[in-house]
Amino acid sequence: MPVNDDRSWNENDLNAKLQEAKSAGIKYLIFHLSMGTTMFESVDHTSLIKRVTEKNNFDFFIHVDAAFGGFIYPFTSSDRDLTFENPLITSITIDGHKMLQAPYGTGIFICRKGFIENTRTVEASYVQGTDFTLCGSRSGANAIAVWMILMTHGYEGWKYQMQKLIDRTDHICETLDELKISYYRHPNMNIIAIKAHGIKPEIAKKYHLVADDFQNPKWWKIVTMMHVEKRLIDEFLLDLHQSVLN
Ligand SMILES: *Cc1c(COP(=O)(O)O)cnc(C)c1O
Repeated sequence: MPVNDDRSWNENDLNAKLQEAKSAGIKYLIFHLSMGTTMFESVDHTSLIKRVTEKNNFDFFIHVDAAFGGFIYPFTSSDRDLTFENPLITSITIDGHKMLQAPYGTGIFICRKGFIENTRTVEASYVQGTDFTLCGSRSGANAIAVWMILMTHGYEGWKYQMQKLIDRTDHICETLDELKISYYRHPNMNIIAIKAHGIKPEIAKKYHLVADDFQNPKWWKIVTMMHVEKRLIDEFLLDLHQSVLN
């Protein structure tokens, strides 16, 4: 899907695609909205979906991909548009193995009452009960790990940790602004996507920045996690200052 400069969905394009779908006889849709995309950590809104579906008269469901952002955004922002507080949201995925740093394989799917039946498949009917939770070879230890991490921090504790990441990300953005280096960053999120021409390749390499495409980078991404400490950030910013002056 083409997006606008602020990473929001392009309304004209969406309308055109819906017209196409309508002509093809499609009546029901599932919209997949993001609470934090992988490269930019941008966040979608339901207002646009409401507008375009009313105009085109579609029935729809909304699924939220909160794989990356789900363990930070609700703690750093008061926006509840993509949560179950919004009656339009039917299901959400959220990963324990991203921000929460649980072991791999702790992806979580949650949906409203009555909808889980739609995910029951017959493919694994050799497992007794075609159950959705801990059967077959799914690891109960993973579920316990997520529970332990959440209980150890508590809501306030996690909120504090996430705010700390936002403060560090703000600090980096202030320097980027000073140096007039262009970037995208959602104000409640901990990813900064910097336009590639603003960063010398040797700096990207030294600090292991993540490219959107390592063959031909257009963006370099910084993810401010707990281990990205102030000392490392200041060293990076100093190098950046020097590279701009030279
Ligand atoms: C990591 C990620 C996924 C993939 O999820 P896995 O559970 O790791 O397979 C999907 N969407 C977003 C936005 C992600 O960051």
